[in-house]
Amino acid sequence: MENSKGEKGKRLWKKVKYQLVEYHSLPGYLRDNEYIVGHYKSEWPMKQLLLSIFSIHNETLNVWAFIQSILVITNVRVQVHDHLELHDILRKADLHKLHSELVTCFPSLPNMSDLYKFQDELKTSISGWHRSMKEDVTNIIAPLMVRPITRWPFFTFLGGAMFCLLASSACHLLSCHSECISYIVRRLDYAGIAALISTSFYPPVYYSFICDPFFCRLYLGFITILGVVAILFSFLAGFHRPKFRTLRASLFFGMGMSSIAPIIHKLILFWHQPEALHTTFYEVLMGILYGTGAFVYAARIPEQWMPGKFDIAGHSHQLFHILVVAGAYTHYRAGLVYLEWRDQHGC
Ligand SMILES: [Zn+2]
Repeated sequence: MENSKGEKGKRLWKKVKYQLVEYHSLPGYLRDNEYIVGHYKSEWPMKQLLLSIFSIHNETLNVWAFIQSILVITNVRVQVHDHLELHDILRKADLHKLHSELVTCFPSLPNMSDLYKFQDELKTSISGWHRSMKEDVTNIIAPLMVRPITRWPFFTFLGGAMFCLLASSACHLLSCHSECISYIVRRLDYAGIAALISTSFYPPVYYSFICDPFFCRLYLGFITILGVVAILFSFLAGFHRPKFRTLRASLFFGMGMSSIAPIIHKLILFWHQPEALHTTFYEVLMGILYGTGAFVYAARIPEQWMPGKFDIAGHSHQLFHILVVAGAYTHYRAGLVYLEWRDQHGC
């Protein structure tokens, strides 16, 4: 009897212990945004935090949005890889065999003069198709087989995006465990954002200035150093504090804006190339998405208008995540245009 009472008490205590709390009950290091009023996890053990992926709180959508994005990027990696293997498939395809099999199946049909005529026509048209297919392969796809442009800048960008999304998911999931874990995962989160912004520059800069190693190294070196400085800056004590929210947003926004120089340079060099205009369109769109994301994050819109109404869904941090993922996707589309451009025209 005593025992069962004890068990019941333990279960009840656990239930109370792992309930969501309100902003004013949070320890100081977890207080970040007073306009999100409730549904906070606070100082839960690791096991409960990992299980909280499957329960509703004010971080659920942040964690899930980023987990889904990681899956999408993994899929994109596979697709780009498949694209790379196109030349292998074409090399293996036996066009002669296909041609002879189609033609030889006709003698088994009834003996009709019209059919023989049709067979002759088909032979001619298949030969013609075979020839034109061969020409297409030689003119369009063969250059890819000979010297495909290197993909490392593209994969560096995808790697940076994956690191950012993973770090952010970890941050949203684990930062409420303890002050020490919170300190580590928040820095990891800032490092992820800096890595995403820096590696976003790699495909546009590398493929735009592939024929001009000086500017290629200058711009890539500059953004890499800027990324490292941003990471070091985020290690400063107090950088994560709410009062530095605008400074953080400005730092990352400024990093993104430094892409204006290589973009204008590219336009001056290649203003007559449709690919240069096409990629610039994507880059402007990406700038708008990242800019809006930084603004929403700093201004805490919309929760500051109706505190407590957007705790679970719709608060600024979720909008910021969606805009960052949309910006990274725009960058990916631009990256594909660059790849096609350089694959077809080389240096
Ligand atoms: Zn986040």
